[in-house]
Amino acid sequence: MNQDTICALATAQGVGAIGVIRVSGPQTIDIVQKIFKGKNLHQQPSHTIHFGTIRDDQNLIVDEVLISLFKAPTSYTKEDTIEISCHGSDYIIQKILKLLLKNGARLANPGEFTQRAFLNGQLDLAQAEAVADLIASDSEASHQTAINQIRGGFSKQIAQLRESLIHFASLIELELDFGEEDVEFADRDDLRQLIHRIQSVLVPLIDSFEMGNVIKNGVPTVIVGKPNAGKSTLLNRLLNEEKAIVSDIAGTTRDVIEDELFIEGIRFRLIDTAGLRKTNDTIEAIGVERTLQQMEKASMIIYLFDASEISLAEIEEQIQSFNAPYVLVGNKQDKLSVHQKQEFEKAYPAIIWISASENQNIESLQKTLVQKVKTKEIKAGDTVVTNLRHYQHLLQTSESLNHVLEGLSNSITGDFLAQDIRFALHHLGEITGQITTDDLLANIFSKFCIGK
Ligand code: GDP
Repeated sequence: MNQDTICALATAQGVGAIGVIRVSGPQTIDIVQKIFKGKNLHQQPSHTIHFGTIRDDQNLIVDEVLISLFKAPTSYTKEDTIEISCHGSDYIIQKILKLLLKNGARLANPGEFTQRAFLNGQLDLAQAEAVADLIASDSEASHQTAINQIRGGFSKQIAQLRESLIHFASLIELELDFGEEDVEFADRDDLRQLIHRIQSVLVPLIDSFEMGNVIKNGVPTVIVGKPNAGKSTLLNRLLNEEKAIVSDIAGTTRDVIEDELFIEGIRFRLIDTAGLRKTNDTIEAIGVERTLQQMEKASMIIYLFDASEISLAEIEEQIQSFNAPYVLVGNKQDKLSVHQKQEFEKAYPAIIWISASENQNIESLQKTLVQKVKTKEIKAGDTVVTNLRHYQHLLQTSESLNHVLEGLSNSITGDFLAQDIRFALHHLGEITGQITTDDLLANIFSKFCIGK
């Protein structure tokens, strides 16, 4: 039980039209009532809003405020909770917080409201973690996955799987109690079937992590091509701003420049690089080295070439070295004849012809980028794993279950089966928070902002 009553500013720091101070815990109403002149809050029903003033020790008005009242257990934390909406001046906010502290509240730690929601059974751990993702989400896709997870889509599935496995675990444990006697309460075929069923849920979740990561962190996309192919010009065009330096001198883009681009709600992290030329120039060589490093990190490659300055053999050689999906982009189409283009299309029908400087066909390049990401098709409403912690536990569950399957085919004894099943249960439980340690909780909630 949390006996403390905690308070914190829930809205952003700095001056705003209004600021919201959150108070939660058993003493909430008592403490707020001491500084609030208005109705008697104890007598008001939950989920009501009350106008009044906050007064200091000398009974001077600090601010006119609105009090939103949520009584236990129907609040976010399941405790008595009050949100004080005051005018958003730093001075007023600090003054009200000080008054709350003076009257018995303490400042909340990062994520403490959400931690209480978890400890009081309002949210499971995966849902609580999604709250942090939701606050941090800055694209349509990442927002959707976080919302989906808060609503429990992901956790419900895990909890159900765990239930069915617990059933088998207890049957096998029971067998162990009978020691020497040769009894089998747990039907091995049923167990095998259950594990296959669980794996058929786990594997797509594990696979979704790659896409989940893309949604959350963006698709690292690298633009590569020979010097002067027009990479900087294309980057500027895509970003619509003058981030990279464009020049006629080959090799001007010495540094790796990274920026973000949103196309149809998907975040692309665009990395522009110094060209792929083999070079003796040291500064340029650093650039080339970085290009190679960036290419290794990239999930998507935009390969840009100037058809009047490259041979089919050179393109082929480049493509061979790619180990991520790539888009072939022929730049400077404004300088090319139809015949020149056809030569390249014969070898590579998928080429997208653009002119970066003349702003031609950029849209079709953008569409292709989105399509490439979406081929790892994620349907709306599908459960996507975005959290590394969940991913690791899912993997470990899956491994333990594979051990159980192996054990079953080798007819190993119940105690070994029980051990692997226990491992699987443990990892599933860690995801939803059915099994937790203080360290784990501290680690998760410390990443939240104060006031959440
Ligand atoms: P990078 O070395 O690959 O980054 O190439 P830049 O973006 O610096 O471009 C090299 C030169 O090609 C610059 O003079 C650009 O203005 C020019 N350029 C870029 N795109 C086009 C295009 O679509 N058509 C033409 N004609 N020139 C272009």
